[in-house]
Amino acid sequence: MLIDLRSDTVTQPSAEMRTAMAQADVGDDVYGDDPTVNALQAEAVRLSGKEAALFLPTGTQANLVALLSHCQRGEEYIVGQQAHNYKYEAGGAAVLGSIQPQPIEANPDGTLPLDKVAAAIKPDDIHFAKTRLLSLENTISGRVLPLEYLQQAWQFTREHKLALHIDGARIFNAAVALNVPLKTLAQYCDTFTICLSKGLGAPVGSLLCGSEEFIQRANRWRKMTGGGMRQAGILAAAGLYALEHNVERLKEDHDNAKWLEQQLRDIGVDIAEPGAQTNVLYLRQSPELAAKLGPWMRERGVLISAGPLTRILTHLNVSRQDLQKVVDLWREFLQQRA
Ligand SMILES: *Cc1c(COP(=O)(O)O)cnc(C)c1O
Repeated sequence: MLIDLRSDTVTQPSAEMRTAMAQADVGDDVYGDDPTVNALQAEAVRLSGKEAALFLPTGTQANLVALLSHCQRGEEYIVGQQAHNYKYEAGGAAVLGSIQPQPIEANPDGTLPLDKVAAAIKPDDIHFAKTRLLSLENTISGRVLPLEYLQQAWQFTREHKLALHIDGARIFNAAVALNVPLKTLAQYCDTFTICLSKGLGAPVGSLLCGSEEFIQRANRWRKMTGGGMRQAGILAAAGLYALEHNVERLKEDHDNAKWLEQQLRDIGVDIAEPGAQTNVLYLRQSPELAAKLGPWMRERGVLISAGPLTRILTHLNVSRQDLQKVVDLWREFLQQRA
């Protein structure tokens, strides 16, 4: 078995999850007839405290549909320079929605400075796009946005009449790290997404949560962007299984990341962002070393996206024992080159 540390998207559905998928009751979800999709959406409502939820194939589409539902053509959203829904979604909001992004530089902790957000809000003037939305990401690069910041951002957007969207691909990692229920985070935004296909271990699927009225609009955009699925309960069953069984255990991934950080530091690896809060670790190394490390590890059954800045993720298919093996190999690698 390979030890794959490239991402938490590489997680494999377990035998129990596959059984749940095989046994799911299904119907045509475009007609609203799929009982398992409906159960998953209801569970997201229960956990988040939002009025409604929508199941989508991917996190990218969930963010796109959210942006399309918040902003009209010629309007804009304020977003972090490194945010997934600005930088890593192929410019979808601009291409498909004629929505202008207004990126701003984030603080080192991943928060967007609210004074800079305020300065980026356009006055009501025919020269400018209309600023509609602030979009934050939680977790961002494995960092958890502080609760006080979420409260401030929520208050700020109320005062400035902006909507607040959270790209919460890994929001359960944030909730588990803070030891709070999802509701505590969800109360400080209008809408947010959840990826089921990362550390939660489902093969596919994301959720978009918000008000009843917002989700109705989002449902039309989901159809238009080709995300209306039919007997999708087969997929939703994996999501339901993940929400029931794989949320609490994220703490193991976080503990493993902390442990790995300590072990790698002890053998002389340069930790780029010390103090792992969730399941993401960044390491720094010379380009020469990085170029050798990737293939060397691969030959020994470990997959790492080795680069000058290496991102490592822990997840449910990586045990402490696996990580011990990685540390031992890494030590051997460094010793050979010393
Ligand atoms: C992975 C990710 C997404 C997109 O999810 P996909 O399902 O891969 O499309 C969106 N936002 C963040 C922060 C992510 O990490």
